[in-house]
Formats: sequence, C-alpha cells, structure tokens
Amino acid sequence: MIAFDYREGRLHAEDVCLVRLSDEVGTPFYCYSASALEHRARLLLDAVGSSSTGIAYAVKANSNLAVIELLGRLGLGADVVSEGEIRRALAAGVPADRIVFSGVGKTVDELGFAISAGIHQINIETAIELDRIGEIAAAQSREIHVVFRINPDVAAGGHEKISTGRKTDKFGLAVDEAQALFRKATALDHVVPIGFAVHIGSQIKDVSAFAAANDRLITLTEAMRAEGHEVSRLDLGGGLGVAYHEDEQELPLSEYARLLDDVARRSGAQLMIEPGRWLVAGAGVLVTRVNAIKQAGDRRFAIVDAAMNDLIRPTLYDAHHPVWPVNRSDDALEPTTVAGPVCESGDILAVDAQLPLLQAGDLVTIGHAGAYGAVMSSGYNGRLLVPELLVRGDAFTVVRRRPSYDEAMALDSLPNWSSDADAA
Ligand SMILES: *Cc1c(COP(=O)(O)O)cnc(C)c1O
Repeated sequence: MIAFDYREGRLHAEDVCLVRLSDEVGTPFYCYSASALEHRARLLLDAVGSSSTGIAYAVKANSNLAVIELLGRLGLGADVVSEGEIRRALAAGVPADRIVFSGVGKTVDELGFAISAGIHQINIETAIELDRIGEIAAAQSREIHVVFRINPDVAAGGHEKISTGRKTDKFGLAVDEAQALFRKATALDHVVPIGFAVHIGSQIKDVSAFAAANDRLITLTEAMRAEGHEVSRLDLGGGLGVAYHEDEQELPLSEYARLLDDVARRSGAQLMIEPGRWLVAGAGVLVTRVNAIKQAGDRRFAIVDAAMNDLIRPTLYDAHHPVWPVNRSDDALEPTTVAGPVCESGDILAVDAQLPLLQAGDLVTIGHAGAYGAVMSSGYNGRLLVPELLVRGDAFTVVRRRPSYDEAMALDSLPNWSSDADAA
C-alpha cells in the first residue's frame, strides 16, 4: 500500500494532488490517508488473530477524532493516558468497554471520570493510585478491572527519551510491589485485579526486547497463580517500531505475531497490545512551502513555513524524517537542511536532506509524520496550530481546521488591576 506517490510528476495523497490541497487549505498542514490507516490496522488484526490478542490503539500517537473513529470502526479499542483522551475516544465512538487507561500520574478527577464512564481496565502504576481507585469505585458503587504495570528492567526503544522500561525510569512498579498491590486489591470490594502490564518504550524493532519483557510477565503470572490468584489478562504494551529511513527495516510483524502466540500459549491469558506509532506514522505527512533559500557557510538552508512547533520529533528526539519535493524534478540533488522560522537553532526538520535545488514557493513534504506529529504541536512563536486533513480516494476532509488568530488568543485575558497600577 503506497499512500503517497507521484503521478505525472506531482506527489499525491491517494488520488488527491498535494498541490491542490496546498492551494485550497494553505500550508503548512498534515495530511493523512484513510486507506493507509485501514491497511495498517488490517495487517495487524490479521497478524494477531491467531493469539486472539486485543488491540487498543494508543491514542496519544494521533488523537484526531477522525483517526480514532476510523480505527475504532475496524474494531480497535483505545489506550488512553488522560481524561482528554478518554473523552476523545468516547466522542469518536469507541465503546467505553474497549478503553484502557494507562499513565503514571492519573489524577483523582481523571480516575473518577474513567470509572464513571465504565471503561474496560485501568493500568495501575503507583501504590496510591490503587487506594484512590478503591475509594472512588466504592463511592460510585461500580466495579473496575485493574492490572498492574511492572517495570521489567529492560532497556529498549529508539532514543533515550522514549525508553520507559529501565529500573530507574519513572514508569511501572517493581515486580515485588506489583505483587503486593495485586494481593491488596483482592481484598477490595469494587476493584477486580485481573493481571499485569508492561510497556518498555517506543520505536522498538528488535523482537527480543519484547520477548525479555514478556518473559518477566509470564514468570510473575506463574508466581501469582502459585499463590492461588487468578491472572487472566496480560497487557503487553505498544512500542512496535516503524522505518523512518528508506533502508531501515521495521519490526518484523510475523516474528512479533509468533511471540504473541507463544505468550498466549504459555500463559493461557487473554492478551492485549497498545500500538500507536506503528498504526499511524506512515499514514501521514506534513506539507510545507519553502519561504526562502539561504546559504550559511557551506550549508544550504530551505526555510519553510512549518516548524518545530508543528513537528517536534527532529528537535526533541533527533528523529529522521524523509523529505519529498511535491514536484518531482530531474535536477541533481543537493544536501539541503530544511528549517522552520522559529527563533531557535534547534528548529530544524531535516538535516542535509538530498533535494533538487528548491526555490521560494516550492512545496515539500515531510514523510512518516502521522505519529507524534500534530498531537505534539504548539502555538510557540505565536504560530497557529497546524490543521489536519484526511484523504480517501479522490476526496478530502479537513478533520481539524486552522484556528483564527482571534481564536488562538481567546483563552488569554488581561488582568483588570491596570487602573490601580495607573493610580500608583
Ligand atoms: C506511548 C504508549 C504506547 C504507544 O507507544 P507506541 O510506541 O506509539 O506504540 C502504548 N502504551 C503506553 C502505556 C504508552 O505510554
């Protein structure tokens, strides 16, 4: 499935020319392919079918309602990390009983909202969280299923800032603490402890890292069963890695699926995974227009109208994204650093990308930007939040519009002490 490809020399999203979208919507904008999203979801559904593994899409990778809805319609649940994401999942039509609430610092209000909404499961990460859930569930007279996220002490993930499973990371519980909390939870009236969870990091392409974490879960499951506890659900987390470089291999899906089969067989538990990036990264691009070309020493810069506030991954994680010119050219390629207008040296979208000689006004596309792109955008430098488009076949819809400047300022207000200050 190639969602973004050239036709008559111009880059298209499915059947829609990106030049046309740029003219109609203005740059910069994110563009997602509905068919690519469906294709990825179906690949994964097929791969995990034999182990009957449930898939909860990690909404934080791309929380646009249209994206959540599309994946929800295919039967995926939602893995959420805040009340805002629970509300998004519900608004997009994901049934509450397919929503899993993760996160290291859920507030009392968020837990109350989640329990009253009747979600499927809460993944507990701190001792105080169990106490709070016990009190809230009792007060609401509602039953809630919980699992305990362990820290398996496995180093994995594509970058220091996206590795979460080492002993000194803030995530998860030490195994003995998870066991103690599980035992404690069995005594609570409205809390039903049913299993354990792990999530070791993001952008993992080596199946053996998952295998090591899963083995810890299985050992723990056996130990708890030996004590007479029922352990019926294991949540294996997300982190499935994708290819950002042309010569890179993504996580081998068939090997990953075999691993799930193995865990299902050895544990006899109902499995769940929480992929985010893997489902959406390749299904989105960021389209931007060159504003100016400049030479700085021996470095050639294309200053574009998208910036780190629209796509922070290169700045935050030193992430690589391919850059594709919207108009294909036979010109010789020149290393060109694509940078935004934000007043930060780190505002760079691609270093030394091989591009034809660009000119002011040319359009370029930042590829593989569907995950952790628009969701991490901000209004830094007084810039407007970037809009999002969804394409299907020859149709497109603006699924988040660009705000006006008045809207962007509307939540600010001026203090009304100014008259006192004038008097003084
Ligand atoms: C971020 C996160 C995910 C998704 O990670 P991806 O790398 O996007 O697959 C899944 N589960 C939890 C608990 C997370 O924090």
